[in-house]
Amino acid sequence: MSVSSAQPQDPVRSPRSERLLVLGSLLLVVAILSIVAFLLVRERANAELSATRAASNIVQLIDADVLRNVELYDLSLLGLIAASQREDLKNVSPAIRHLALFDRATAAPYKGDILLLDNKGDVIADSASVEPRKGNYADREYFQSHLSNRDPGMFISRPFRSRQPAHEWRISFSRRLSGAQGEFLGVAEAAMRLSYFDQLFNSLNIGRDSSVNLISSDGILLAQEPRPAEELVGKDFSNRPNFQRIVKEGNGSFTSVSSQYQDKRLYTFSKVGNLPLIVVVALSSDEVFASWKRTTLVVSVATLALCISLLWLTWLFCRELRLRHNAERELAQLAATDALTGLANRRTLDQALRHEWFRAQRSGQPLSVLMIDADHFKDFNDRYGHQAGDQALRTLASVISAHVRRPADLAARYGGEEFSVILAETDSAGARQIAEYIRKAVEQLPFIEGADSPITVSIGISTWTTANDISLESVLFAADKALYQAKENGRNRVVSAA
Ligand code: GH3
Ligand code: MG
Ligand code: MG
Repeated sequence: MSVSSAQPQDPVRSPRSERLLVLGSLLLVVAILSIVAFLLVRERANAELSATRAASNIVQLIDADVLRNVELYDLSLLGLIAASQREDLKNVSPAIRHLALFDRATAAPYKGDILLLDNKGDVIADSASVEPRKGNYADREYFQSHLSNRDPGMFISRPFRSRQPAHEWRISFSRRLSGAQGEFLGVAEAAMRLSYFDQLFNSLNIGRDSSVNLISSDGILLAQEPRPAEELVGKDFSNRPNFQRIVKEGNGSFTSVSSQYQDKRLYTFSKVGNLPLIVVVALSSDEVFASWKRTTLVVSVATLALCISLLWLTWLFCRELRLRHNAERELAQLAATDALTGLANRRTLDQALRHEWFRAQRSGQPLSVLMIDADHFKDFNDRYGHQAGDQALRTLASVISAHVRRPADLAARYGGEEFSVILAETDSAGARQIAEYIRKAVEQLPFIEGADSPITVSIGISTWTTANDISLESVLFAADKALYQAKENGRNRVVSAA
């Protein structure tokens, strides 16, 4: 059964608003996720930056401390050389001479011994005792260097292990003793114990899994804090890729996996003054990013919860919209439909009629209206009861709507046992044809039980054309009149208005 085109369209919402809502929410979620991701990435970069800065400060601190110490050593060497060349000290007692020679050898706590060697490498003065130790250091790198080189500047050795007492790592600073003509007279040498760095590093709070390292430029680890479980001091790291990169870059920082500990570390490093030493601060990535990771976890969970809530609310809202939309559509359909027959009701008929009439005015196409009335229906009701009458009306409705197939056409219940059909773009002849089909189809319906004649209908037709150009009221009136004529003429027939 058709309740066709003239039905009011859904006036309020379409699925488009739902789509817009979903799209808007998705965009919002994407925006939230992007902003949060951007902030977290930036926060990570900040964490890395401040860790690098802190590590760099430590490196600078060590650098400055070492340079200050080296200066002290140099002062001691210069003092030793100056005192050794004073004629007046040649005749004083060994104890006084010792005092004068090492006068400037200030009490730096981690200093090794200061020695004065003659041009053969034999010890002629020793800061450790008035009676110089027996020993020859002519094989040392620094001795050979001063011997062959007249440069009066300070020579810094590569780290080496002391002969005694405990084979500690040391580094030595030395200056040449030259005669008036520049001839080689010997060497003043001061050794610095690298355990000095242990004390220096000890005072730094670096984190459990991170470390401060002092490495010689040859790749030998000289000091490390915190002290590693296995003894790494003295170990050669020269062929490790990270060390090679550090040597190549000189100063700076990078992140890489430690070949020693197999974890990711942030290396910050610098050469110590012009010494053959490199300070490397290796911060464990886990420690550097620990706080960032906690923040990320909390923020991610909160953001995810927010996004899920947003999507869930959107879904709820969409569902509500859809329910409302459906309810409104159902209501609109109910308001437009005749409850008994399911055809369009009188209200819809009036709307559609006006609509089609104006459309016909514009297009100039004919518009026909059928008025259909069941014959002797009062008798039918009286004879077979109202229930059967209602059933008969439903049957009539289905027969009528079966013959009204074009989209712009409309079959409606006018009221009581009367029906109306709008036939758009249909002239009088066409309308008559359809009316005849309906009349015949009704006539041929099976008889109701106990009846001796069929149900029949009378049909009046009226057509608007550009030729007659009558008002809508006149069209209806004419259709009514034609129907009356059909009744007059004996019922079960079709009459067209003149
Ligand atoms: P005519 O051939 O001249 O049209 O005679 P008629 O009896 O059909 O005309 P009349 O207008 O005198 O009676 C119409 C009857 O239609 C009255 C009523 O009993 C019946 N009727 C109207 N609406 C309904 C309805 O909704 N259900 C049923 N069962 N009967 C209805
Ligand atoms: Mg009637
Ligand atoms: Mg009737």
